[in-house]
Parts: sequence; structure tokens; C-alpha cells
Amino acid sequence: MNRSKSEALYNEALQHIVGGVNSPSRSFKAVGGGAPVFMKRGQGAYFWDADDNRYIDYLAAYGPIILGHNHPAVTEAIHKAALNGALYGTPTELEIEFAKQLKKAIPSLNKVRFTNSGTEAVMTTIRVARAYTGRTKIIKFAGCYHGHSDLVLVAAGSGPSTLGVPDSAGVPQGVASEVITVPFNDLDGLRQALERWGAETAAVLVEPIVGNFGIVAPAPGFLEGVRRLAHDVGALVIYDEVITAFRFHWGAASTFLEGAGATDAAAIEPDLTALGKIIGGGLPIGAYGGREDIMAQVAPLGPAYQAGTHAGNPMSVSAGLACVVELARPGTYERLDALGRKLQDGLQAAANAHGVPLTINRVRGALSTHFCGHPVTNYDEAQDADGETFGRFFKLMLDEGVLLAPSKYEAWFLTTAHAEEDVAATIAAAERAFSKLK
Ligand code: PMP
Repeated sequence: MNRSKSEALYNEALQHIVGGVNSPSRSFKAVGGGAPVFMKRGQGAYFWDADDNRYIDYLAAYGPIILGHNHPAVTEAIHKAALNGALYGTPTELEIEFAKQLKKAIPSLNKVRFTNSGTEAVMTTIRVARAYTGRTKIIKFAGCYHGHSDLVLVAAGSGPSTLGVPDSAGVPQGVASEVITVPFNDLDGLRQALERWGAETAAVLVEPIVGNFGIVAPAPGFLEGVRRLAHDVGALVIYDEVITAFRFHWGAASTFLEGAGATDAAAIEPDLTALGKIIGGGLPIGAYGGREDIMAQVAPLGPAYQAGTHAGNPMSVSAGLACVVELARPGTYERLDALGRKLQDGLQAAANAHGVPLTINRVRGALSTHFCGHPVTNYDEAQDADGETFGRFFKLMLDEGVLLAPSKYEAWFLTTAHAEEDVAATIAAAERAFSKLK
């Protein structure tokens, strides 16, 4: 496949944009190097690059594009909003409508506040939890990624792990020492951490279904245990649902009990939730919310400050509202699940046929491919997967016209635009790729 224009654009980008990319996970550094593909158009489940090559897209922009590219409802909403002016700096009625929709979908959101990114949303939930509890420490789980604010760039999965910087430079030791990391799915580890630091812990922060070292569901009882242990010491529970909300069903992953490995919604209800990605329909957004008394800490009601010139802007809110309304159509998630199952089964059978060890974790329309012969239930097991083989697989799939995220840690995301024939073509491509891996 000829990608000479992408290569030329990359060389030019390198002269002006640090590393040639505006988010490090877009670089091909972890998959053997070379120029990332420069896309110029997306439609439905497909992308076209600068050289006019077509790809089936499983990146979905790292999650948000669940309806596929240029979905008519979202595009129309953006268009209509733009005609009324892009930004006001005043409240709008649209924000109320959107907040109501989110509260309907996620009942634990008593009050919400919109931000511009998932990073800001998570960062603020931490500040609010600290303000509410008067404590400073945060417990997170190894390999979870919670954006790029100082506190959470410790043992961070996703891009930081992919690029070998799970503990970022530039984060002061004093900040990093406020973060305690324990293995995901390990309640004993959490118990021990809380025995030692419980009285100083403001919150336990977790992705209820992990999306950042592959897709990893919580073991049955894990989220119940997190909530019980945290509350026993007076710490709050923050769910980072930036990837997961509206990904597996119409609402939070934590209320998708089958996926969350839980039996009782009340037993896993968080105190605060951070949102992003899908709720912007492709435009920049974040949101956070939760219990009334905790959210009352936030200015102008309370002393914890958070703000944003672009927060709640009519373009993002309109796109997000259109996306969320569209996702409410009956059958959306069942269809994503059925497609996901086909993709998982086909990839697994193809890998087995060629003797390639492959562990596929899947929750509905999201899956991950770890090149290893053991289950992946935590970050250590994900790290053990063979990154070199993933890198070769990634490049082979790219040449087949299938775009994955360039990292062994990232998920494949199906969209409502993917058709059965796209999945069949992907499996056929993977079969050829596996045959060349040996
Ligand atoms: N939390 C999670 C779980 C994420 O996956 C991400 C982004 N991948 C973020 C937070 C940060 O969101 P953003 O990139 O919008 O700042």
C-alpha cells in the first residue's frame, strides 16, 4: 500500500509539531516506528488517508466515534449549532437538556458540570473529593489511565505505558507521593493500602471496566469491594467512565451489571463520575457529577474551583446530545454486542489456526488483542503480552486496510456503522496477517 503522502506529511509535521503528532498515542513509535497515517476523511466505518487508501476504522478516535464518521444526526446538530454562533460564555438551554439526558442515563449523577476534556473531568473529581473529605491521598489502579493531569500520571496505562513513560517526568515527587497504586482486580491489595493510608485517602479512583490496558472487566465482587472498603475508611469512590459510559449500554458501565461483574447496582454506585469521549459525539467534551452534597463543594456554590471558557459550549453539547439520543435507539447495543462476538470469534479462530497465542477480552462492542497465552485481568498480565508481535500485526493489518490503535494496550472499538461484511473482511485480513507472523 502506497502511503507516500502520509510519509511526506509526517516529515513536514516533524518540523513544526513536536513529534509530528498532537497526542503521543498517535505516533507509531511503539509499533516499529514510521509515519503515522494522515487521514483526510471519514465516513461511516471507513477512513481515507492522504493517499486515498481506504481503511476500516477500529480506532473510533480512541472511543468517541461510536456512531461512525459523519453520522447525519451529529453532523446536522453541529451544523445547526454553528449557524447560531460557536461560543457565548453564557448559560444555554441546551446545557440543561443535555444534563437531564445524562442524569436519566446515569442515575448517580445528582448534579453535573461540563468540562472540555476527560482529563479536566477526572482532575476535578479528585479536587472535589479532596475538598469534601479534607484529605489528600488518592488510590488508583495500575495501568488505568485517567488523563494527563499531574496526579494520575503514575503507573498510567494507555499512551504513557505504550511509550515507556508510565510515571511522567515533570510530576513533582510531592504530588506523586500522594498517589497510591494497587493492582486492578486485587481487593487484598486495596485492603492493605487502605489499612495503611485509609485515614488520609480522599478517594479511590477506578475505571469500572478498564479500557486502557486492553478491555478488562472487573472480577465479580471487585467493584462492590472497592466501594465497601473505601466507604469503610470514609474515602469516596470515583468512577472514571470517560471511555466506558455509553460504550456498553445507554448509561454508565457501572450500571451495566453484566459487564461490571456485579449483581446489585446500589452496591457499586460511585460518589463521583467522570465522563468524556462519546458524550461529545466527536467534539471536545468532558463532564463530571455525582452526589448532591459532594458537588456542592464546586464553585460558585462551594470552595473548590473549576471553570472553563469553552465548557458547555453549544457545539459540543449539541453534538453530544444528538449522539446520546441516537444511541438510545432500541437494539443499538445488542447489535454492537453481536458484531463484537463475531469479530472476537473470527479473530480467535484465525489466530488458533495459525498457532498464534492470542487473548481476546471483549465487552460488547469493544475488545482487545493481547499476544500472549494467558488471561489478562490486570496490568502486569497486559504488560507481559508480546508488543513486538502486536507491532508487526498492526502494520500487516494497516496494509490490509484495517486501522487499529498503534498500541498493544488500546482497544478495538466497533461502531454502529460497521456492517457484518466489514467484520468478515477484517477477519479475513487478520487470517492473512497471522499467517505471516511466524
Ligand atoms: N480517562 C480515561 C479512562 C481515558 O481513557 C481518557 C482518554 N483516553 C481520559 C480519562 C482523558 O480524556 P481526554 O483525552 O479527553 O483528556
